[in-house]
Amino acid sequence: MTTPNENAPAAPSDFIRDIVAEDLRSGKHEKICTRFPPEPNGYLHIGHAKSICLNFGIAREFGGICNIRMDDTNPAKEETEYIDSIMFDVKWLIDEWANEHLGRAPGYASDYFGQLYDYAVELVRKGNAYVCDMTPEETDEYRRLGKEGPFRNRPSEENLDLLARMKAGEFPDGARTLRAKIDMSAPNMWLRDPVLYRIRHAEHHQTGNAWRIYPMYDFAHTLSDYIEGITHSICTLEFEVHRPLYDWLLASLDLPRPLPHQYEFARLNLTYTVMSKRKLMELVSDGLVNGWDDPRMPTISGLRRRGMTASGLRSFAYNIGITKYPSMTDVAVLEHTVREEFNRTSPRRLAVLRPIKIVITNYPGGQIEELEAVNNPEDPGAGSRKIPFSRELFIESADFAETPPPKYFRLKPGGEVRLKYAYIIKCDEVVKDDAGNVIELRCSADLESKTGGATSRRKIKGTIHWVSAAHAIEAEVRLYDRLFTVPEPDADGDFKSFVNPNSLEVVTAKCEPSLKDADPALRYQFERLGYFALDPDSQPGVLVLNRTITLKDTWAKEVKKR
Ligand code: ATP
Ligand code: MG
Repeated sequence: MTTPNENAPAAPSDFIRDIVAEDLRSGKHEKICTRFPPEPNGYLHIGHAKSICLNFGIAREFGGICNIRMDDTNPAKEETEYIDSIMFDVKWLIDEWANEHLGRAPGYASDYFGQLYDYAVELVRKGNAYVCDMTPEETDEYRRLGKEGPFRNRPSEENLDLLARMKAGEFPDGARTLRAKIDMSAPNMWLRDPVLYRIRHAEHHQTGNAWRIYPMYDFAHTLSDYIEGITHSICTLEFEVHRPLYDWLLASLDLPRPLPHQYEFARLNLTYTVMSKRKLMELVSDGLVNGWDDPRMPTISGLRRRGMTASGLRSFAYNIGITKYPSMTDVAVLEHTVREEFNRTSPRRLAVLRPIKIVITNYPGGQIEELEAVNNPEDPGAGSRKIPFSRELFIESADFAETPPPKYFRLKPGGEVRLKYAYIIKCDEVVKDDAGNVIELRCSADLESKTGGATSRRKIKGTIHWVSAAHAIEAEVRLYDRLFTVPEPDADGDFKSFVNPNSLEVVTAKCEPSLKDADPALRYQFERLGYFALDPDSQPGVLVLNRTITLKDTWAKEVKKR
């Protein structure tokens, strides 16, 4: 049994959900609160979708809320374009699914700059932080060597004074930092007096010129979690080594409310994909793709434009599950999930991507038949539609072979094939131009063999799709292949050298007339060809479609052949 919108399990189970369930059961928390904390320095990708589905999924399943919080502690790198795209993508992904569990959206770490500064002052007062005058290079070197610096034991009053003057903008960039006073000999580098604040004379997109010092990620993130009342702060494995610092910061302040706890899970890695904003940005700025929302990109905006649905991405995120072990997910899993959904939900249509004309010589010139075509064999409720049949048709050029390979069940000279929903035809003559190219096939139909007719049961191996030439409408169809030619473009060398030069092909297709009113909300199965979605480049009278995905995993076959 499948449900209409979701083919993922209703409530997945994993180690994080087990912890949340137990925390609610034991009364440790009354209501849970998670968060999704993107840094607005690029567009979200499918890895972020995994994190969004986890955090919002937990809020949804356990009656809690999930905040979106822009991790905007770095004034130089962030842009409002990214904030807008992030909000749009998150809302698209959780719409009608976990929308009512959205807490603050968007919140900004910068909303808390005032409170964070007060916490910094409190740390200094308690002797848990100090102002350090070493250069960034010296700081790194001392931390590497595990050596205490000369400013570590500054008196508290001096630290407070210097911190206030850092804030007031008295010192140039890089002149001083505020550092946590933890343990310079700790085996965990993150505990070797990490920097909490640095001086940056830079304008910030949210706070303007109010601040001359900016908090570092760990400090801002931990205390923002506390300020927002986050109960479960879920992040990817690389932050496991930061957890002792997370806990130290919380323990070093007098915080009256329940403390958040950090949990780590393995990030999503996908084959034939790169998954870092920096690398995706390079693809965009080097012109290797047509923008962040290029349908070949693993960005949420690219996948959406390609035709993937929010429910499909959510199913994928649920199907792959949450673990603590780094792994590589085969992109075929994503494709399979999406195909399953579309197979259930997509109306079928006839379209020919690379047309060749055929003439049915024994079919009267002016005659048009409206033939019954089933909209979706997986969904009896989807009904049927009429498609026009006439003397001149287009078929797929790949469905004809003049010198066919063995077991070729499509059209060949002297051979027969069934036209879907219509007649069996036989190829009588191949018409060529002077250069020897096939320009037309002259065929005869068995007029008794119509689908559903008296002799329709006549057995014939091949069935092909077609459209009536006089009725066909044209569409620009963009066919996509994988953006990279190797499964792990990140593994070694320059990932950009593995970009697939043939990842986009544009054809002018001939489509059945009903596609004139194609609905951008629908995904159409072009029979035998794949699933297609309208591209936003479409205009009234100009159809542009993206092939979201092929019907079968043609790539797996290719790999086998090699
Ligand atoms: P990138 O390296 O792609 O820039 P990031 O981790 O720096 O990613 P952030 O904007 O900081 O990007 O991430 C926001 C949230 O999304 C974080 O909680 C992060 O752990 C999570 N996240 C990022 N990439 C993945 C991924 N591949 N799989 C799962 N979660 C991810
Ligand atoms: Mg980051």
